[in-house]
Amino acid sequence: MIVKSRYKVVVIGGGVIGTAVAFYLAKNGVSDVVVLEKDYLSSGSTGRCGGGIRQQWSERMNVRLAMRSVEHFKRFESEVGFDIEYFQGGYLLLAYTEDEVLLFERNIKMQQEENLDVELLSKNEASSRFSFIDMSGVRAAAYCSSDGHANPHLTTFAYARAAERMGVEVLTHTSAEKIITEDGRIVAVQTSKGKIETEVVVNAAGGYSHEVGAMAGVELPTESYRHQIFVTEPLEHIMDPLVISFENNFYIRQTKAGNFIMGQGDKDELPGHNVTPTWKFLREMTEKMPKFFPFLRDVRVLRHWAGLYNMSPDAQPIIDRAVDIDNFYYAIGFSGHGFMLAPAVGEAVAEWIVHGEPRSVDISNLSLNRFQEGFTIEKNVV
Ligand SMILES: Cc1cc2nc3c(=O)[nH]c(=O)nc-3n(C[C@H](O)[C@H](O)[C@H](O)COP(=O)(O)OP(=O)(O)OC[C@H]3O[C@@H](n4cnc5c(N)ncnc54)[C@H](O)[C@@H]3O)c2cc1C
Repeated sequence: MIVKSRYKVVVIGGGVIGTAVAFYLAKNGVSDVVVLEKDYLSSGSTGRCGGGIRQQWSERMNVRLAMRSVEHFKRFESEVGFDIEYFQGGYLLLAYTEDEVLLFERNIKMQQEENLDVELLSKNEASSRFSFIDMSGVRAAAYCSSDGHANPHLTTFAYARAAERMGVEVLTHTSAEKIITEDGRIVAVQTSKGKIETEVVVNAAGGYSHEVGAMAGVELPTESYRHQIFVTEPLEHIMDPLVISFENNFYIRQTKAGNFIMGQGDKDELPGHNVTPTWKFLREMTEKMPKFFPFLRDVRVLRHWAGLYNMSPDAQPIIDRAVDIDNFYYAIGFSGHGFMLAPAVGEAVAEWIVHGEPRSVDISNLSLNRFQEGFTIEKNVV
């Protein structure tokens, strides 16, 4: 049932982005907000993600947003009021080719200009610091000790519950069906449970961002791709950093409880909303991973699932508002890094709505019109 028929702001999407926007709106004094979630909180990509929090990107904007987010993650418990299993164990990026070494060197130079605590390790340094990895074929590694990971479900629920305490309404199992406009202004959102009058809508619909844009007649250049991931039984703690290889197409981390979570990308995926896991993924991963992490050889897989990467043309988020419709905002196209960027993005979008501009971080490069002007693609994506 819909509690009220009018809200100042309607946020579509109860993932980490939508709930972070709602939290920061309330923190900035606007709590007449409703979050619409068609299923349950964190049922989309957020609840299916790896939980990694990395600042080592090839594009400067991603570095800045991630660094701003890490500032928030570090004080999350005092700011939002919940323990989200945040752990700064670092990220280790393994380079297997000369091209990768060159790319890492270039990235590290730019990241250090942004004051990121990142370093290039020789193979010997990496082997002695991370002896649990079989380093055959490794040429060098990039390491940032302030990277880390957290629990995405807890993070989403933390933002939602904290926002609710400040007066925000969260309606689960309630889908947005149409955004009703008149003369270039939003007047209402039609939901599966009735109409809500409003003047401001935030599209935080993750894998469905394109469809939610279309509800207001806005064509957004995003499409979604299945990404699979699995979790093993727990072992004693041996792995601090999240480890990535772009060349060998994997990422892996150990959770607070000791389980290992790992995944890979699949270039053959077609765009769509398919989240059915496949045997192919499970077979490829279980054959591949013990070569790099010998201790995984006899570890059992507990669960395997899939979620969506919502991709923009340059694998960087689109954070903007519509030109032809007043107050229609979008925070979409997060590829494989929306969880880690959520605090900075939630904060910036809320500031934009409340104060007329994002104040804490400059997101002007993430506007939609960059795709007409030429753009560079984020390369550090698995
Ligand atoms: C396998 C995998 C691993 C990943 N690993 C990482 C990682 O390690 N680190 C990282 O930062 N990111 C990672 N990501 C990416 C990350 O999950 C996403 O970028 C992030 O969760 C996006 O959050 P969101 O809130 O925008 O989207 P979502 O979590 O998808 O939330 C959008 C919500 O909107 C709802 N919705 C859609 N349409 C409607 C509608 N019409 N009405 C109402 N509700 C609607 C959906 O049900 C959904 O819950 C990974 C993703 C996958 C799939």
